[in-house]
Amino acid sequence: MSEKSAKELLRQIPGVDALLQTEPVERALARHPRKLVLDAVREVLDERRKQILQSPEPFPGLDLQELAQCAAQRVELLAEFTLRPVVNATGIVIHTNLGRSPLAEQAIDRLRRICSGYSNLEYDLSAGERGSRYVHAESILRELTGAESALVVNNNAGAVFLVLSTLAKDREVVVSRGQLVEIGGSFRIPDVMSSSGAILREVGTTNRTHPKDYVTAITEETALLMKVHTSNYRIVGFTAEVTLDELVGIGRKHGLPVVEDLGSGCFVNLAPFGLYGETTVQESVRAGADVITFSGDKLLGGPQAGIIVGRRDLIERCRKNPITRALRVDKMSLAALEATLRLYRDERQAIEHIPTLKMIASPAHELKARAEDLARLLRETDTGNSLQIEVGEGFSQVGGGSLPAQDLPTHVVAVHCAAIGPNRIEQALRNGSPPIIGRIESQRFLLDLRTVKDSELDAIRQGFARMLREFA
Ligand SMILES: *Cc1c(COP(=O)(O)O)cnc(C)c1O
Repeated sequence: MSEKSAKELLRQIPGVDALLQTEPVERALARHPRKLVLDAVREVLDERRKQILQSPEPFPGLDLQELAQCAAQRVELLAEFTLRPVVNATGIVIHTNLGRSPLAEQAIDRLRRICSGYSNLEYDLSAGERGSRYVHAESILRELTGAESALVVNNNAGAVFLVLSTLAKDREVVVSRGQLVEIGGSFRIPDVMSSSGAILREVGTTNRTHPKDYVTAITEETALLMKVHTSNYRIVGFTAEVTLDELVGIGRKHGLPVVEDLGSGCFVNLAPFGLYGETTVQESVRAGADVITFSGDKLLGGPQAGIIVGRRDLIERCRKNPITRALRVDKMSLAALEATLRLYRDERQAIEHIPTLKMIASPAHELKARAEDLARLLRETDTGNSLQIEVGEGFSQVGGGSLPAQDLPTHVVAVHCAAIGPNRIEQALRNGSPPIIGRIESQRFLLDLRTVKDSELDAIRQGFARMLREFA
C-alpha cells in the first residue's frame, strides 16, 4: 500500500470528540471518571494510528461504533483494580503467589476497628506520653511461646536480616551446608548473610553434618550458631543433622547464642492432620534456642510479619538497631497479628477460625462431599453436556515452603473436554472475574475444594457458565 493511502486512512480515524458522543462511551462516562474515559479513547485511537503507520494492511477497523465499543471495553480494563480477589482452587493452602494466608474474621474485624480511627500505636496510655509500637504483640507472643521477649518486624526475611546484622556483623555465623536454603523470591541464606554484614561459615556436607563440625568451626570470630529450617525441601537417604538440643548444648559450652530460622512458625501440633516433622515455636523455645524467627503469614495464618522471639538481652539489641526502623511493622499488620495470636489461647478456636489451619484440618470425607456438590452444580450449568465432570481422589499441598513432600489426601473435581482442552479451560477461568485458579493434571483441569470457600462456589458456577458461552 502506498504512502498516500496510509495518509488517507489516518485521515479517516474519527476524532476524540466523535467517540465521546457515541452511546457506549457515553455510558462509560456515566460510570467512570472523565479522565479515565478520555485515556481509554486516546489509547484506542493511538493504537489504530500506530497500526496504520506500521502496516496499513490488513485494513484496520475504523468504524465509529466499533471503536466506541473498543474504548468502552478499555475503560472497564483501566478501571479494574490490579490487586483483586481470586478463587484459589489449586489446593495449595499457603500459596505465596495468591497471597499466602487468608485472615481469620476476628483479625479482619480488628483491622477494621483499629484502622478506621486513631489508636495507641505509639502512645503509652498509662504514662500519657510517647510509647513504642513494639509492645503490642509482645505480651501475647511471650504468653504463647514461653519466650522472654518478642519483636515483630515486616517479614521473616527482615527478621533474619535484623538478627544477623545486630548480633553478627563482621563476625562469623556457623551454618550447616545442608541448610543453605533458597526460598522463592530470591531469599537465600548466603545472600541475606552477606548483605547483613555477617560472614557465613559453612560446615558439614550437603547430606551430613555432625556436632564436631560445628565445634571445630568455632573460633574467636564466631558470633552465632545458626539452624535454618529446610522449609521447602527434604534431604533423604544417608543423612545426619545436628538437633536443636545438640546445637544448644554446643552453644552453651562455648558461650555462643543459637539462632533458629524456623520459617513457618507453627504453634500447633499438626500430626493429628497427618503432617509430621514441623517443630512448633514452643518446642524450639523449650529446647533453648536463644533467638527464633518465623513468618506471620505461613502456618501461623496471620498477616505478613516477621516475628522474633527469644532472650531479652538479644532481642533488646535488635530493637535498638537503627535498621529496625526500615523494617518496621505497620499498624494494620499489628492489629491483625494480635487478633490472630489471641485465637491460639485455645487451640480448638485457632483450628476452627484461622483459615489456614482450618483448611489443613479439613477431613477427606468432608472434601469429598463438597466436591460432589460442586460437580453437581457444574453439571447443571453445562446444559449442552460439553464437559465431562467427575470427582476423584487427589492430593493438596500445604505450600509456602512448609512441609515439603507431605501431601494431604483430598477430592478434586476433574473437568475434561476433548474439544476445548485443559489449557483453554484453565485460561478462560483464570481470565474471568473473579479469576478461578486451578491446576492441570493428566489432560484434565482440576479444582481442589480444600482451598475453596462455600461462598465461592457460585462464583465458580458463573465462571463455568461464562466459559461455556465463550466456547459455544
Ligand atoms: C519463608 C521463609 C523465610 C522468609 O520469610 P518471609 O516471611 O517470606 O520473609 C525465611 N526463612 C525460611 C526458612 C522460610 O521458610
